[in-house]
Amino acid sequence: MSASLSPLLTPATPVVVDHGAGSYVYDADGRSWLDFTTGIGVTSTGHCHPAVVAAAREQVGKLIHGQFTTVRHNPILRLTEMLGDVLPTGLDSVFYANSGSEAVEASLRLARMATGRNNIIAFQGGFHGRTFAAATLTTAGTKFRTGFGALVPGVYSAPFPYALRYGWDEETAVDFALQELDFLLSTTSAVVDTAAFIIEPVLGDGGYLPTPLRFLQGLRERADQHGIVLIVDEVQTGVGRTGTFWGHEPSGIVPDILITAKGIASGFPISAIAASTSLMSKAWPGSQGGTYGGNAVSCAAAIATLGVVESEGLVQNSAAQGERLIAGLREAAASVSTIADVRGRGLMIGIEFTDPDGTPRPDLAAGSQQAAIDEGLLLLTCGTRGNVVRFIPPLIVTSEQVDEGVAAWSKAV
Ligand code: PLP
Repeated sequence: MSASLSPLLTPATPVVVDHGAGSYVYDADGRSWLDFTTGIGVTSTGHCHPAVVAAAREQVGKLIHGQFTTVRHNPILRLTEMLGDVLPTGLDSVFYANSGSEAVEASLRLARMATGRNNIIAFQGGFHGRTFAAATLTTAGTKFRTGFGALVPGVYSAPFPYALRYGWDEETAVDFALQELDFLLSTTSAVVDTAAFIIEPVLGDGGYLPTPLRFLQGLRERADQHGIVLIVDEVQTGVGRTGTFWGHEPSGIVPDILITAKGIASGFPISAIAASTSLMSKAWPGSQGGTYGGNAVSCAAAIATLGVVESEGLVQNSAAQGERLIAGLREAAASVSTIADVRGRGLMIGIEFTDPDGTPRPDLAAGSQQAAIDEGLLLLTCGTRGNVVRFIPPLIVTSEQVDEGVAAWSKAV
């Protein structure tokens, strides 16, 4: 008897992909779909970019693995050098893991070791991964933390300035969220026992909600005031996704710890944790790292990816095509009374389905996602209430492909 994949683990879509190229995936019969999911923001240079394929192939023939506490290899050294050119000033020390969740865990360990404090404050609707500590930080949906008891002690969840949900303007929502944070800080002995804040520049699984810049600045001020480590989780927003190299960049702040993964290696598993050397040196030797972190082939793919991002102007393309995409989607949404918001930064755009009376409509989000598949467009849903459809095109997307996506979406919706 042959085994079958558990329905819980198979994707919601019936699409079985045979191969991918650029912005498209194809099934074995040659049917194509415009891929505006990019494996959840991973294949930033498109599927199988020739430069990434060539770099990985070459590296496989030279050295596949060399555990970085025992030997250094050229790809890890070169990648570190390249990251040095794009990381915010002062974040001059880097180490590697394999996934976003592992990097989040490492950042929490580092913050606790550096401060000698215990508490971590995350924000409502945040998604930071599925390992135990990362899941404890995650409030992007009950599915991420129900049924296994979780959770790690010392984690608090503070309000996120979600203006639409409260029916406020952004300024009011930011004032409210900062006041609530101050209240939490004053009531949890957090000032003396808070190690870190952790925040995404754009909430990912929580609904593709850009974090207001003034909120990020408010976190920086409070972190400085109380000696709290500010961790910016750029697992999904990093490497051009939001139209700037880092998602937090427009706020002008510099985080204490920056985490990146996903789009950095076009599909090869690798994540990076960056901090100042003085902060990083507070980690006990042996407390961080793992067998596969900084794998040589993943590093080679990341080097090629960063090269393509630079040589093909993908950060600029993300900003330009993001503007084109959001304008097209807003036009298509104008006549749909159940679309409450079309928002995003760069090529990270969410459409929220909510009735005029405020009732979330996850059914409409899921229905339009399915209808889009029939129109040849792959999309994902997200949001704490599942009522957001997200658009995550590759950073190489062209104007014609954006228009094709908008046309397919208009028909689907
Ligand atoms: N942090 C953010 C912001 C993410 O979007 C994700 C994954 O979607 C993670 C962490 C966890 O990454 P991974 O799934 O690679 O463990």
